[in-house]
Amino acid sequence: MRFAPDAFFDAALTALKDEGNYRRFADLERRCGAFPRAHHEGGQGDREVTVWCSNDYLGMGQHPAVLAAMRDALDTAGAGAGGTRNISGTTHAHVALEAELAELHGKAAALLFTSGYVANWSALGTLGARIPGLVILSDALNHASMIEGIRHSGAEKRIWAHNDLSDLERQLSALPDETPKLIAFESVYSMDGDIAPIAEICDLAERYGAMTYLDEVHAVGLYGARGGGVAEREGLMDRLTIIEGTLGKAFGVMGGYIAASAPLIDFVRSFASGFIFTTALPPAVAAGALASVCHLKTSTAEREAHAVRVATVRAGLDRLGIPHVDNPSHIVPVMVGDPLKCRYISDLLMAHHGIYIQPINYPTVPKGTERLRITPSPVHSETDVAALLDALGALWEQCQLARLPRAAQ
Ligand SMILES: *Cc1c(COP(=O)(O)O)cnc(C)c1O
Repeated sequence: MRFAPDAFFDAALTALKDEGNYRRFADLERRCGAFPRAHHEGGQGDREVTVWCSNDYLGMGQHPAVLAAMRDALDTAGAGAGGTRNISGTTHAHVALEAELAELHGKAAALLFTSGYVANWSALGTLGARIPGLVILSDALNHASMIEGIRHSGAEKRIWAHNDLSDLERQLSALPDETPKLIAFESVYSMDGDIAPIAEICDLAERYGAMTYLDEVHAVGLYGARGGGVAEREGLMDRLTIIEGTLGKAFGVMGGYIAASAPLIDFVRSFASGFIFTTALPPAVAAGALASVCHLKTSTAEREAHAVRVATVRAGLDRLGIPHVDNPSHIVPVMVGDPLKCRYISDLLMAHHGIYIQPINYPTVPKGTERLRITPSPVHSETDVAALLDALGALWEQCQLARLPRAAQ
């Protein structure tokens, strides 16, 4: 019998659906100026919902300074860049943004990519492929983009237990001194919201002569006096070889980047296929990101309001006895532990409460740790928080989900 492509695809998708891991996207249109409100095209007709799972952590995607910069660039430079960076696609907005990002992280240079995913994939892919004998020591919970970049590079990879310094040291000490080494890790891990011991990892890197590659995607704009990330907050930026970030989460626009020494950046610029052979970001996107980075370098109001909102949501969950992962970041994972229940609660939140929280299932998180990942932001009002807590309380009752002993009221 010949291979029947669609039957093959259907069978694979049916298996996903049976496990509860089939992904359905909510068709949303964010209401600019009224976000976290969004318009939802759903089965029950169109309606307004409140988004509680966005990575636009600070609402910068609707900030007037960002929108003005984008409109201005659109009117001045038009829609697309019109080429790769090498062939006519480098505009002043790209150059200015790279200078701003280098300065943000205290590095000599920075390099833009079309996304954070592409930045990780290309930078790690290029370093791994082009540094002879490089061994990459990768945290077990690194993001898919880092894993794929390392895999693609063909470099030797050693996985160390998540945030486990003794395992990292054990593996570093087993390698010959002259072997080039790179430790790849994140600052804020996006699904559990825990934070790496960056200083101690830098200590080990220095002791064993390893380079460091830090993904600050869930921290840039949010931590540090100027939004430079956890490494800025902890005074560690100069100890890291490469800092990687996104312009698509707290900065509210799109794009990714690395910041490092001038020779390293020039090397990746010169050899990274994922940088060289693709059209540059639209100038308006670069201009919007630049405005966002500049704004958050001096304004701390967004970061302060963000922290307050996160604390309010956590305290409310504690009052209700709803289990959530305790962590030192802004991410509030409410644990459900079952893919079908997680999907069901998310559906009920949307259908009955006008609240959108995407269920997080395998393979984004391990099976059995399915969760609702809540991301409070300064654009959520006290009323929004109260509505969220009411809805979750009612659903925990209705679905008879486990609760923790209630905290003292
Ligand atoms: C989202 C994410 C990325 C990719 O960034 P994009 O700009 O969205 O492509 C990289 N690393 C981590 C840890 C992420 O969560």
